[in-house]
Amino acid sequence: PDVSSPTTSSNPSTAPLPPGMILGPDGKPCKICTAFRHWKPPKDSSKSRKQTQSASVGATSAVMSALAFGQNVAQTPVEVDTRPDNCPPDVEVLGRATWTFLHTTAAYYPEKPTPTQRANMLMLLKSLPVLYPCSHCASHLGENMKTSPPDVSSRYGLSRWLCLQHNEVNERLGKKKFDCAIEKLDERWKDGPSD
Ligand code: FAD
Repeated sequence: PDVSSPTTSSNPSTAPLPPGMILGPDGKPCKICTAFRHWKPPKDSSKSRKQTQSASVGATSAVMSALAFGQNVAQTPVEVDTRPDNCPPDVEVLGRATWTFLHTTAAYYPEKPTPTQRANMLMLLKSLPVLYPCSHCASHLGENMKTSPPDVSSRYGLSRWLCLQHNEVNERLGKKKFDCAIEKLDERWKDGPSD
């Protein structure tokens, strides 16, 4: 796919875009580059009615589970995912799944990889800027890889490199950075907490 930068401000054909909506390289709203929470369905469509219904069911079960765990319902944030189970991924679901795959694969990568293992890992990582469906995500990664090429020399090197790449995205999205010490990475992606 074309990995040109995203657009959020100019919409060649119609009214201004809702905040957070990303246009793809073809100038149309890009489904896989945009979080579904930024898509606003038409107010009076039957689809919208269905969403409202399932949202209220979800909200009810969130409140029930808060009560079951002895939480103060008034203070319980009710963030309801109204998506049906068979909904395709958005940029967040795809991102979470991809990071899970990459960090976990790094956590189990050999301390001393063979030349074949290194070559395959390099191929996998270099494929991302070409194949990753979120075009602006792919584009940023490709640019970063030019100045910071993947370290496939060892389990530690790869885990750390991925952590730094993920932190670059975290920073761009205004999220907290992760501690890239190998103990923290292993705890998160391989061993779990010690207790
Ligand atoms: P995620 O960021 O998906 O993280 C999942 C878990 O990983 C966290 O819960 C945490 O436990 C752990 N973690 C967090 N940081 C690190 C780290 N540095 N090292 C190790 N573990 C960590 N979204 C965009 O909106 N714009 C982009 O340009 C964009 N680029 C992306 C590029 C790539 C290559 C990928 C894979 C994803 C990209 N995303 C992008 C998606 C984005 O990074 C998140 O996946 C998405 O916003 C969901 O975030 P989250 O808060 O659920 O946790």
